[in-house]
Amino acid sequence: MRKDDLILVAGAGGFIGGALVRRFSELGFTRIRAVDKKPLPLWYQRTPGVECLTLDLSDEANCRRAAEGAVEVYNLAADMGGMGFIERFRIECLRSVLINTHLIESAWRAGAERYFFSSSACAYNTTLQEDPNVRALKESDAYPAMSERGYGWEKLISEMFCQEYWAERGMKTFIARFHNVYGPWGTWDGGREKAPAAICRKVLEARESGKHQIEIWGDGLQTRSFMYIDDCVHGIDQITHCEKLVATPINLGSSELISINDLVSLVEGIGGVRLERSHDLGAPRGVAGRNSDNTFIRETLGWEPSIPLKDGLARTFAWIDQQIKDRKAGRHTVRDI
Ligand code: NAD
Repeated sequence: MRKDDLILVAGAGGFIGGALVRRFSELGFTRIRAVDKKPLPLWYQRTPGVECLTLDLSDEANCRRAAEGAVEVYNLAADMGGMGFIERFRIECLRSVLINTHLIESAWRAGAERYFFSSSACAYNTTLQEDPNVRALKESDAYPAMSERGYGWEKLISEMFCQEYWAERGMKTFIARFHNVYGPWGTWDGGREKAPAAICRKVLEARESGKHQIEIWGDGLQTRSFMYIDDCVHGIDQITHCEKLVATPINLGSSELISINDLVSLVEGIGGVRLERSHDLGAPRGVAGRNSDNTFIRETLGWEPSIPLKDGLARTFAWIDQQIKDRKAGRHTVRDI
């Protein structure tokens, strides 16, 4: 890849897309096209020197325009959020199939050399995730399929599109199944935020208000692993440039398993408070347990996400603290629409 080859990042106004644009820019790539449907003032991050376009990529003509001349295409665009969003808005999640369907065709027509798709651990068979003491999920666990309704099925069918564009048309495609990503510049309020950001915000609000209470969704025994954003963008780059991974889904996640109750304790420790807990058993909580089996990524790349949760959370906590202060002062912050 030459430094002046055109890279398209779709969903660049969001959390991971924005971080990926910044990474490519820092690596010295000079022609980056960043696309998102959100108006520019609502983009989470903007990297100087990058071409930024507001286009709705569920529309085929917009995908053609976005992909024109692109050598590599990264699809990070999706209508998504944490459990509160994906359990409630299944149609919106399913409609993201339009984005990948049109974007992959447009990338192929434009002669792109590599196409990356951001899949999810929600594509895995949910019946394997009914116990908090989970066996970590390996790549073959997606089939026989019983994905998360809506969001997970969209990911699975879009993965299949990627595999067939390689098998039938020879375009190199790459598929990473992300396990919960967190970090600065991620959504932290408004309804789409995920557990780490939501818990940081709740702890900060409790500390600020002096009302030392926190509400936890579900019984808090559900387990997950969380990958820091820097590991995520490094992994995307590695995966997309590994010939052994063409059209082959691979986990991209941390294998550091933690219960939501322990996650709250960790954040309390960072914030220097102890809170009285209540549990909302009617709230969305997703599967009982989920972890990433990293055997395949270790074997293939000789690397796996490894930034410790306590370190990444401390950085995220400090960032959300600053966001709250900035918002109070009327300064620009990451805000959901
Ligand atoms: P995000 O919501 O911050 O970013 C997604 C972006 O896509 C948003 O800015 C949104 O405006 C944009 N978008 C939505 N519909 C669009 C459209 N029609 N045209 C153009 N842009 C559109 O989410 P994220 O956390 O950055 O996630 C990026 C990708 O990674 C998504 O595909 C998501 O499903 C996947 N993923 C994320 C996680 C995670 O923990 N964050 C986990 C698994 C998979």
